[in-house]
Amino acid sequence: DDWPTRGDVDVQHLTVGYSLDSKEVLEDVSFHAPPGTRVAVVGRTGSGKSSLALSLLRLTTKFSGTIRIDGVDIASLPAELVRQRISLIPQDPTLFNGSLRFNLDLSETVPDEHLQSVLDAVVGTHQWTLDDMVELNGQNFSQGERQLIALARAVVNRSKVVIIDEATASLDQASEARIQTVLRDQFRDCTILAIAHRLDSIVDFDQVLVLDHGRVAQRGHPQTL
Ligand code: ATP
Ligand code: MG
Repeated sequence: DDWPTRGDVDVQHLTVGYSLDSKEVLEDVSFHAPPGTRVAVVGRTGSGKSSLALSLLRLTTKFSGTIRIDGVDIASLPAELVRQRISLIPQDPTLFNGSLRFNLDLSETVPDEHLQSVLDAVVGTHQWTLDDMVELNGQNFSQGERQLIALARAVVNRSKVVIIDEATASLDQASEARIQTVLRDQFRDCTILAIAHRLDSIVDFDQVLVLDHGRVAQRGHPQTL
């Protein structure tokens, strides 16, 4: 079917690691993101932010707890389906050697006009064309640009739940500003989980989770933290 249609993300008492014999990297993490809300995840390096993102795609080993999206426990779904329906924009997105067109629509079923309009909306009009070529590993694009292309892919995919692991220091100013705009404008009725590094980018978020050593140290509205 078309799960998830609303984008309600409910994580309860989540404890995870990377393998069954390793120690936990997230411990008893709980939060609820109602449909269409934006959650920022902050915390020091190694606190578990990326691990939380990966857990939502079933890319870690869950020890206990539940992740429900629109009320469905993702552990009960095929991992492939979960990864197809929830968009994760990693810190350093992988692109494919080929045209931008192919990188936006791996299924090669979406009309060019639509792809071009998404591209224009995400990176700005007349920046790039669908025929522009992406070299191996996307090395002819900056890290920020690769994140923008991955964001455009998420728009094409019409994902209701979008997770972005924002790149850190190396991100160029223009891309950083663009990413914030795209998150605000292109995903208005989506639920967003953004791993953020700058507090000024999350002032208008609905909720902030502060992770510390895999635990939720603080949780609340950005204005009150
Ligand atoms: P950063 O701000 O540097 O990106 P982070 O908050 O995203 O850090 P994680 O990458 O989630 O932190 O790491 C949390 C813990 O999990 C760390 O102790 C890390 O060493 C461990 N870890 C991360 N990835 C793996 C992996 N693939 N296998 C085993 N352990 C891992
Ligand atoms: Mg990380």
